[in-house]
Amino acid sequence: MNTQRKVNAPVVIIGGGIVGCATAYYLAQAGVQATLLEKSVLGNEASGRNGGGVRQQCRDRRERALAMASVKLWVALRTKLGFDIEYNQGGNIRMATTEQRMDDLRRESEEELQDGLAVEMWDRETLRRRAPYLGEVFIGGKYCATDGTANPLLAPRALGWAAKRLGATIMPRTEALHVQVQAGHVTAVIAKDPTGELVIETPRVIHAGGPWTPQLAQTLGVTVPIVPTRSVVAVTQRLPHLFDEFISSHDLGVYARQAREGHVHVGGAGAEHDDTFDQTTPLGTIEKIARGAAGMIPALRHVNFLRTWAGTIENTPDKVAIMDTVDGIGGYIIAAGFSGHGFCLGPIAGKLLTEWLVEGEASMPLEQFRLTRFQK
Ligand SMILES: Cc1cc2nc3c(=O)[nH]c(=O)nc-3n(C[C@H](O)[C@H](O)[C@H](O)COP(=O)(O)OP(=O)(O)OC[C@H]3O[C@@H](n4cnc5c(N)ncnc54)[C@H](O)[C@@H]3O)c2cc1C
Repeated sequence: MNTQRKVNAPVVIIGGGIVGCATAYYLAQAGVQATLLEKSVLGNEASGRNGGGVRQQCRDRRERALAMASVKLWVALRTKLGFDIEYNQGGNIRMATTEQRMDDLRRESEEELQDGLAVEMWDRETLRRRAPYLGEVFIGGKYCATDGTANPLLAPRALGWAAKRLGATIMPRTEALHVQVQAGHVTAVIAKDPTGELVIETPRVIHAGGPWTPQLAQTLGVTVPIVPTRSVVAVTQRLPHLFDEFISSHDLGVYARQAREGHVHVGGAGAEHDDTFDQTTPLGTIEKIARGAAGMIPALRHVNFLRTWAGTIENTPDKVAIMDTVDGIGGYIIAAGFSGHGFCLGPIAGKLLTEWLVEGEASMPLEQFRLTRFQK
């Protein structure tokens, strides 16, 4: 029998990806016990399906300081969650196959060094010496020693579990259907779980719904420009240890990390405009990834790929996230649109949103993440 239950919460977080889970965790640490709603299970979408890159280099300048602050949080989380999230600060190499790409990387490095991020340009010889597992096709690259990797299957969940231990309410299989607003302020979230409908009275909502954010926001008359894009990861058979870094080649269209047990996770996108919620893995994309992997790491030329999965990236028009309130809807904060690089940013997003809610102001500027930039 369907019933409608009523509960209340100081804050409701919609979405159990890394942004929602990190926010629940830092809020709970600050003594605010949020209720987190996740329509499936924690980390079931991009946050649990991504390439595991925790990287600061090669980012839009607006989010570089956040990525650098987030890496400091990742280092601390390694010991604070009571769970091994396989975070490894093993470095990050971005390789080039052409002089033109080397010039791009050089320009990028100048900006990064100005912003205080330590990166090194490597010529062909240095690349051979430091990363002998890479293919001959590369003529050099850019290296950031403080970048790294973590296990995406574990990190968002460990944050959610830690939040729960600290008193947060985590509600899997619970979908937020509507945000109720009265007199210009949030009053409740109407949700549905397997037993029926639920009214959660609350003055505050953090909407961290990834690529599904626009649909629910639209019911409030708020247009959020986020487009879903399919991205695929393929996993090789178990191999002896080859490398510690997160590596990527824009020219070959692939990136990779080697997981602790030896499997190499190789990621890449398919067609140029693969804008869809479809999470099947097209054969063409798998072939492209396998080709790219073999070019990037010759040792992968004859290995088997055991499985693949697709995840949904959440692209904004300028590929930078939205963290903002909405005029006329007091208590409603959007934190979404991390555009395919939000795994690294999850912890700092959660920390800054917590400061914003608890102290009234975040310790780092968030103006560059305003929703209104798309309305101008
Ligand atoms: C294949 C792939 C590779 C990637 N590689 C990297 C990488 O190497 N490094 C990096 O930094 N980033 C990477 N990313 C991007 C990164 O994973 C995302 O930017 C990040 O996980 C976004 O986190 P999120 O919490 O905002 O969203 P999501 O992980 O999408 O979580 C949103 C959650 O909200 C839930 N939800 C939505 N609407 C509702 C509702 N109405 N009610 C209840 N629940 C709802 C969804 O079910 C989902 O679980 C990659 C992404 C993909 C897909």
